[in-house]
Amino acid sequence: MTQVKEMQRLIRAVRGQLQAELTLGARWLPLGRVSLAGAARPASGGRAAAPSAPAGSAARKPAVQAGAGRAPAARPAAAEIPVPHVRTSDPRVLEKQRRLEAIAQQVRQCTKCPLHQTRTNPVPGEGNPEALIVFVGEAPGADEDAQGRPFVGRAGKLLTQIIEAMGLRREDVYIANVLKSRPPNNREPSALEMAACIGYLYEQIEIIAPKMIVALGACAARALLNTPAAIGQLRGRFHELRTQPLGPALKVRATYHPAYLLRSYLPENRRRVWEDMQAVLRELGLPVPPRRKQEP
Ligand code: SF4
Repeated sequence: MTQVKEMQRLIRAVRGQLQAELTLGARWLPLGRVSLAGAARPASGGRAAAPSAPAGSAARKPAVQAGAGRAPAARPAAAEIPVPHVRTSDPRVLEKQRRLEAIAQQVRQCTKCPLHQTRTNPVPGEGNPEALIVFVGEAPGADEDAQGRPFVGRAGKLLTQIIEAMGLRREDVYIANVLKSRPPNNREPSALEMAACIGYLYEQIEIIAPKMIVALGACAARALLNTPAAIGQLRGRFHELRTQPLGPALKVRATYHPAYLLRSYLPENRRRVWEDMQAVLRELGLPVPPRRKQEP
């Protein structure tokens, strides 16, 4: 009887682990060392500078399948990510929606920096005006520029999977970028462009009044936290952000950008992102889905 119970416990644990892997985009289970040789940078879907290599990332055992270490190659159709639709008759929420749409209109007409000359569509952001969590990336990529929506390419699909692995839906959160227009050829945003644009993000955050900001990647984290530190130094703990000098302090968790995760699709990177998301859920008092093993 004890053995049967132990077997059932093991099956539940393995099933939970596999579900977490699947929702984070895994399609196989690498047994160890993974090569980044040939790992392609995603063509679009958000952009992120590679963080400094985390300690211990090279000491892995051989993988069993060619291509391990890379994200699944199939590029999802953008239509797979539906537009979040929040239905409400609550006047307070409707007022928030109206104010967010007013900012979106300002962004669509914005000429504050030269990026308005090269963008196809500005990407103001989208999601729930009542979101507990606001995810913030760096800038729109090619897919986002084409559609005027944030995180709709491969990195966007991975972000959606991460959100769903947290037990949430895309329409439960708000997603935006520091920069609302795509820099040509996905180049790094300049300090002037960031300074010109970040006010829109601050206004969005003030309207939504979330409990948590998740900064995706070094660029977003540095912009929000006003620091030159590497993402490896910033992730793994909570920071504070004030959009106004005397405004409320908002919690910020920095983690790897999904685009970086796609380029460096290593178990330890996925584990670190997952640990950050678990910490976010715990901090918010939300249920935490089954815990991942330390080493997948
Ligand atoms: S990036 Fe921001 S500041 Fe520059 S044009 Fe676009 S919306 Fe305006």
